[in-house]
Order: sequence, then C-alpha cells, then structure tokens
Amino acid sequence: MLNEQMVGYGTARSVIRELFEYGNQRAKVVGRENIYDFSLGNPSVAPPKEVNETIRRLTDEMDPCLLHGYTSAPGDPEARERIAQSIRRRFGMEASAGELYMTVGAAAGLCCCLRGLCNPGDEVITFAPFFPEYGVFIASALAQMKVCPPRPEDFQIDFDALEGLIGPATKALIINSPNNPSGAVYTADTLRRLARLLEEKSRRYGHPIYLISDEPYREIVFSGVEVPYVPKFYANTLVCYSWSKSLSLPGERIGYVFVPGQVEDQSRVYGAVAGAGRALGYVCAPSLMQRVAAACCELTADLSVYEANARLLTRELTAMGYSCVAPGGTFYLFPRTLEADDVAFCQKARELDLLVVPGSGFACPGHMRISYCVPTERILRSLPVFRQLAQLYK
Ligand code: PLP
Repeated sequence: MLNEQMVGYGTARSVIRELFEYGNQRAKVVGRENIYDFSLGNPSVAPPKEVNETIRRLTDEMDPCLLHGYTSAPGDPEARERIAQSIRRRFGMEASAGELYMTVGAAAGLCCCLRGLCNPGDEVITFAPFFPEYGVFIASALAQMKVCPPRPEDFQIDFDALEGLIGPATKALIINSPNNPSGAVYTADTLRRLARLLEEKSRRYGHPIYLISDEPYREIVFSGVEVPYVPKFYANTLVCYSWSKSLSLPGERIGYVFVPGQVEDQSRVYGAVAGAGRALGYVCAPSLMQRVAAACCELTADLSVYEANARLLTRELTAMGYSCVAPGGTFYLFPRTLEADDVAFCQKARELDLLVVPGSGFACPGHMRISYCVPTERILRSLPVFRQLAQLYK
C-alpha cells in the first residue's frame, strides 16, 4: 500500500501547470504569438550579469573539490556571514551566520519551519488568497490549516476574522508580502496590529505563536511602496527568503531561513529548523549557489518591466470594467472575474486563448490571477482579447 496522499500530490497536476501545458499544446496549433499565456510565475528577465561573472570567477579560482563539495549542513559559514551582514545593513537588524539556515528555495524553508515548529494536530493559519503549496507543506508537517478569509477591497488582514481563528492549538501563521497572487504589500499598520494580536494571544495561551514570513517577492516592489521588515514588528518571526524572483534564479533553488536572535528560545527553534532540514533530507543547499547568492545578495535583476507591466495592465483592465486592486509589488494582478464562478470565467478566457488562473486555487473564488512576468508586448497584444472577454458580460 503506497502513501495515497503522496500519490495524489505526485500525480494530480496543479491547475497552473495544467494551463501552462495546455498553452504549449495550443501554441503548436495556432502559433505561439496567438496564445496569451499568463499562467506561470516564472521570472521573465535575466539574472544580473554579476551572477554569471561570479559563477565564472568561482569555477576558475576555487578549489573544485571545495566548491562542489558538501558545505556544512546549515550552509557555508562565509556565505551565511555575508548574507547576515546584508540583513544588518539593509534592515538595521541584528543577524549572524549562526541564525541563518540555507535552503533549496523558500519552499524548502517553509517546509523546514513548519516541520520544525509543529506537532501533529497543531494549527497553522494562512491568509486567502495564498500560494496553493502552503496546503501541501502544512499537511506534510501533520498540522491543520486554518484559512483566514480575504479582505478583497485591499487584501490587507481581516482582523475580526483572524481573531476568531486563533486558539490554543495555533502554532504559527504564514504571511506572504508582497503577495502571490494579490500583489498586496502589508503596511506597517497591518504588521503592528498583527504583532499586538499575536503577543496577546501568545500570552493568553501560554506559548509563542510564530509568524512565518514568506518573502520571495520582497525585492519586487513598486515605487512609493515600502515593504516593512517583519521581524522588527514581531519578535517570534521566522523569515523564509529566496533569490528565485529577485535574482531570477528559480531553477537554482537557493534561499534561507532566518531565525533572529530575538526569537524566544532561539537556539532550540533554530535547532528545530535545522533538524527538520535533516529529517527532510535538505541539508547542505547547493554549494555553488550558496556562494553566488551571497556574493550577489545586494543586487537584483532589472525588475523594472514588472512595474511597467503592472501599471499598464491595471490601467487598461480597469478602463474595460474589470475591478483590480493595484498591486504594490510581485508580478501578479488579481482582478475580480466578471462572473462569480471564476472557473467558468477562466474557461471562457481559455476559449479565447487567454490563459489566466482561477482564484479558487488560491482559496479566493471570484478572482483570476494574471502573471505579468511576460514581455510587455504580450500584454499589449492581449488587451483586445481581455476587451472581447469583457464584452461577453455586457
Ligand atoms: N512562496 C510563494 C508565495 C511563491 O510564490 C513561491 C514560488 O512561486 C514560493 C514560495 C517558492 O519559492 P522558491 O522558488 O524560492 O522555492
């Protein structure tokens, strides 16, 4: 007898993947230029040139056995020190190499945090709309997911709903700002309120409630918007970061978990994250990429196209009658669908070769996700199709 839960994860294609594959098949019939594919969140800009320069320098200069060998289990100490330095400089926060655990992307970071913190039956709160893999990661940690409903007018937190969800079994909350799929960035006010609530509830239930801050989009933020640093608001915060989006390196699988010294019982919490990394077989993130990310951790790819695309799409779709919350960052827009059934709506879009993802996959029906990490030219060509789709509802 196999583990049927895993069989299910491994054989059921995600809606997003399914759409993407459909787009590839359809492109063979009607031509790539006639498919308006906004399904995947794969960065569309090249990494900065320093990434390849660093790879060349390291492969030329470093002892290959060292460069391609195992690093210490939590990651190369020098690479971690360099990243810690950057955290100190950028956020004015205490940070040291010993508080960082290198991982294969934010996904593995989340799994290490959840597995490290949770005992079977513990509850983890997520905020709709959220990255669908959270459900898989939480279930794999044998915890229960509780979903806080969305506040669709701005995608900040609905505190009345949240308060009712926190109970004695609550172990952690996962926040993701800038957010996939809404593009919302939590304001300092939201974070202050969240911190106050979690402090009060932690006191009431006699144990810390941890905040897991999932931050792969931290650097993709548009002019005039600040992304506050979450550990500065709430002591018991664990940060899951990755360079998948900021350096356009999603396939290289590199990121970290930061367990700041201020976390209650920090050395045991860090130990639990590291222990989960060991239990999951994640020790020693890719050695070359640890060093590349550390050398380039103050850089980003040229992210300007995402802001240009965000402004263009928001303006044009709003003029056509779609209701959109202007994103503060990421490369996603999450407008309301023009009928309540988002799956039916996205199917109508698909019949026009416009590939957008139903919001129900993000626990937020009545919306669609448009991934605009695409050339601006594709957006311009797709506008008549969005208009044609809107016409169906007039
Ligand atoms: N969290 C969110 C919100 C994401 O959108 C993604 C990837 O798209 C991840 C985590 C996983 O990122 P990584 O590639 O760093 O594992």
